[in-house]
Amino acid sequence: MPDQPWLALYPAGVPSLVPVRHRSLIDAWAERVAANPDAVAVAYFDGTLSARELDAASDALAAAWQSMGTRRGDRVGVYLQNIPQYPIILLALWKLGATALVLNPMYRRQELRRLIDDSEASGLICSDASVDELAETLAGSTVGWLVSTSSLDYQTRNDPRIFASVERFAPAPDGDLLYLLEKFRGARPEPVDVNLDDVALLAYTSGTTGPPKGAMNTHGNLLAVIGSYSTWISLGPDDAVLAVAPLFHITGAVINASIALLTGATLVLANRFQAEVMLEAFAEHRVTFTIGSITAFNAIYALPQASREHFATVKLLYSGGAPIPPTTVERFQERFGVYIHNVYGMTETTSAVIAVPPATPAPVHEPSGTLTVGVPLPGLSARVVNPAGVELKPGEQGELELSGPQVVPGYWHRPGETEQAMPRGRLRTGDGAIIDEQGWVYLVDRLKDQINVSGYKVWPREVEDALYEHPAVHEAAVVGLPDEYRGETVVAYVSLKAGATAAEDELIVFVRERLAPYKCPRVVHLVEELPKTQTGKIRRNVLRDGGTA
Ligand code: AMP
Repeated sequence: MPDQPWLALYPAGVPSLVPVRHRSLIDAWAERVAANPDAVAVAYFDGTLSARELDAASDALAAAWQSMGTRRGDRVGVYLQNIPQYPIILLALWKLGATALVLNPMYRRQELRRLIDDSEASGLICSDASVDELAETLAGSTVGWLVSTSSLDYQTRNDPRIFASVERFAPAPDGDLLYLLEKFRGARPEPVDVNLDDVALLAYTSGTTGPPKGAMNTHGNLLAVIGSYSTWISLGPDDAVLAVAPLFHITGAVINASIALLTGATLVLANRFQAEVMLEAFAEHRVTFTIGSITAFNAIYALPQASREHFATVKLLYSGGAPIPPTTVERFQERFGVYIHNVYGMTETTSAVIAVPPATPAPVHEPSGTLTVGVPLPGLSARVVNPAGVELKPGEQGELELSGPQVVPGYWHRPGETEQAMPRGRLRTGDGAIIDEQGWVYLVDRLKDQINVSGYKVWPREVEDALYEHPAVHEAAVVGLPDEYRGETVVAYVSLKAGATAAEDELIVFVRERLAPYKCPRVVHLVEELPKTQTGKIRRNVLRDGGTA
């Protein structure tokens, strides 16, 4: 078999490698601005920012932060939804050679604090509504400045479906972002020599094991993914990319935001996901491409008013992060005339690295009924290996192992975990896979203890640890069970201490106070005893299969 049989499936004109031609993301951004400064770079409801305006705003912000002491290599937390300030912030940080620590605004106090402490972030940008809570959460941390902003800025429509409960609050101690932009209007940062090895994003993931670790997505990683993926889908200045995925997740940050910014396309933002608003955004902004979780597309599908007209300008739709039932693709295409292409990526691969070629029907692996995730994109080396790391033959099942310019150099300050997860730069994905003779990749098993809720990954240990904080809990085990809408749902099995009492609902509320809502068990089963191995290890697989003994 040839080394890379999948090359025969590549769209015409797509090479086996798309070399990185820029010195940094900022170098690529400068080229885009120069090519067409007046083109709309960002659209947000009825508001827009041209490339020139976005460039000037990010210059001003970079100058402001430089004056506040932010330097190359510093980590700065971005704790926001999909709003225009996000791309301004990313560009400003990259101009300084600083790293955007992308944070889910759903994270609760301890969840957030853990990541701040681990990354030793020096600053943070949040919504003005969360300033008070954050001031407490961040007390005594490495965070030296807190800047806030409002999602009401950069638009005037105030769509009640998004903004009904959004008010303006007093800014953070170090100022409101728009105020800083005004104060530093026309200023530019002192030039910083940023190169491909600088870390552009620090994105936390539980990986295959252990507590959350910061994957260091470098400028080189992002440019490799943007180069290969934009070539794959022929993305360019005539395109409008709707950010269906959240920008705090690697897919949103790279394949919605950065790819649009750097290829000259318009980035369409619509704040947090609201199905009706997203649906209308497709038509209003003449969207040509997006990538989102299958749950997001299912939510849109469920809207009775959704019609072919909404998708009339769409050239390509991709969905990644979670398995896609083949029937979902079929019914979406039947109703809207648009085909959902599968795409695979991880935080550690800087998002999309395996994808179905445009306009190519994806085959299904008959024995398992699994829809292919596609073929490796330019530059990616993909193999299936056995536990000893030996490459298996086409059609044989093992662990998917990936390497190439898309794979991060490691986890922040964790050489041990890095060596374990990606020995000699070869990333062990924890995904059980088959690559067939033609090069199609099928994910047929999961080797890691991860729950996949609408594309968000939940690490059972984190939920169990939260449950153990409850005084009545003796033992806890958390598993993912199939769920038609979310893919999987979090379910906890708990035994109580002798003589203690706690209701199922009380335990759910207890976890909700500590963890983001998607991590909270939807069901808690109180049991006498949890099933264990002879050595006393809790057998999660027995619980997953429905038994408790
Ligand atoms: P994350 O690091 O949060 O992006 O999660 C990466 C994991 O999501 C992968 O290791 C897979 O287990 C899963 N995943 C990503 N894309 C797909 C897909 N298209 N189909 C099934 N699972 C996927």
